[in-house]
Amino acid sequence: MSPPSSPPVAFEPFTDEHQAFRRVVRDFSEKELAPHAREWDEKGEFPRDLFRRFGEMGFLGIRHDPAWGGTGLDYWYVVAYAEELTRSRNGGLGTAMLVQGEMATPIIGELGTDEQKREFLAPALRGEKIAALAISEPDAGSDVAAIRTRARRDGDDLVVTGSKTWISNGARADFLTLAVRTGGDGHEGISLVTFPTDAKGFQVSRRLEKVGNLSSDTAEIYFDDCRIPARYLLGEENQGFYYIMTGFQGERLVAAITAVAGAQLVLDDALRYGQERRAFGRPIGTYQAWRHRFAEHLSRLEAARWLTYRACDLFNRNQVALREISMAKLVACDLAQRIAYDCMQFHGAMGYMVESDVARAWRDLRVLPIAGGTSEIMREIVSRSSGM
Ligand SMILES: Cc1cc2nc3c(=O)[nH]c(=O)nc-3n(C[C@H](O)[C@H](O)[C@H](O)COP(=O)(O)OP(=O)(O)OC[C@H]3O[C@@H](n4cnc5c(N)ncnc54)[C@H](O)[C@@H]3O)c2cc1C
Repeated sequence: MSPPSSPPVAFEPFTDEHQAFRRVVRDFSEKELAPHAREWDEKGEFPRDLFRRFGEMGFLGIRHDPAWGGTGLDYWYVVAYAEELTRSRNGGLGTAMLVQGEMATPIIGELGTDEQKREFLAPALRGEKIAALAISEPDAGSDVAAIRTRARRDGDDLVVTGSKTWISNGARADFLTLAVRTGGDGHEGISLVTFPTDAKGFQVSRRLEKVGNLSSDTAEIYFDDCRIPARYLLGEENQGFYYIMTGFQGERLVAAITAVAGAQLVLDDALRYGQERRAFGRPIGTYQAWRHRFAEHLSRLEAARWLTYRACDLFNRNQVALREISMAKLVACDLAQRIAYDCMQFHGAMGYMVESDVARAWRDLRVLPIAGGTSEIMREIVSRSSGM
């Protein structure tokens, strides 16, 4: 058989510039964030000032328009940032920052008026205002089309009534990117608005206690006839469902990236631990049972990484990537569970101690197949978009 006439094109997404940026984030995460991982979890909060610090470092506006304080870089910088942020070893902090830069604000950059960008987007990218994305409700999580929080028109205002729950950054947010019902039932009656949380009638009803991501505030919030100007509508009225589904793509991709990088970190830690910890006169990492299990995880993780990078590449080139992003979120987030479980097992009793890195990673990674669209919903999207 003759060799192919031209070799396949090598796909290396990260340039020297991406890698230099990666080193900055890694350094920052390892030196300034990771040493506080346990303390912030125990407090159930990280310092608010960190938003500003992230803003100064340019981390909150990586792919945002420079006209509003972003840096206008390509998506591979976001990938490097999200990967290295896992080295903070604090999933709550990572979630909060990714909500700020990658989930609650891109839609404002895309659809907002200059006024909305000036009032909400620019200060969020500087880390001066905290942003949250408020879609889920007590009776509507996976089924976004069932949301009931209503915004009725009254002259030049919208009057918002209802509640939202499980909202990351919800207790400290200065504004929300908020999904409301402006029309009839179903997905066609939903709109997005920018909502300042100093509006009269807004209340944080409860700060929720979670299994993991302990340093991030997650809240139940309540709207009692809150009046906001109708010009705070984002994009077109009743097009919100479509905007939310588009926004979910970035959110799910970031979850997949975080899952792969988080699982890699846990695996690397375990492999190191396996050299140090001895049982029956040998390092535990030399037992074939574990070497083979880790070989399996490393192989599957490499596959998940490249599936995720494939989705990132499509996203970066503004191609339709619904199927690939859903596949990446499904595969990477589920795999991270199995890896975290085994790495905890490998640490024995130490892995069960709240103070250990592996226990924190096990708690923090657990949310990934739930938030932003569950694994079951990802399977539904993959099957539908595959013609089933
Ligand atoms: C820590 C954390 C942070 C979050 N942050 C935010 C946030 O910032 N903003 C926000 O708006 N939301 C947020 N959420 C909410 C999150 O997006 C929802 O939890 C998620 O969409 C699932 O909705 P649900 O919890 O209501 O589950 P449900 O929709 O009630 O689902 C329950 C179970 O039923 C399954 N199920 C549902 N429908 C189907 C189906 N068609 N086929 C098969 N199985 C199905 C689900 O997969 C799941 O296993 C957060 C959640 C958590 C845990």
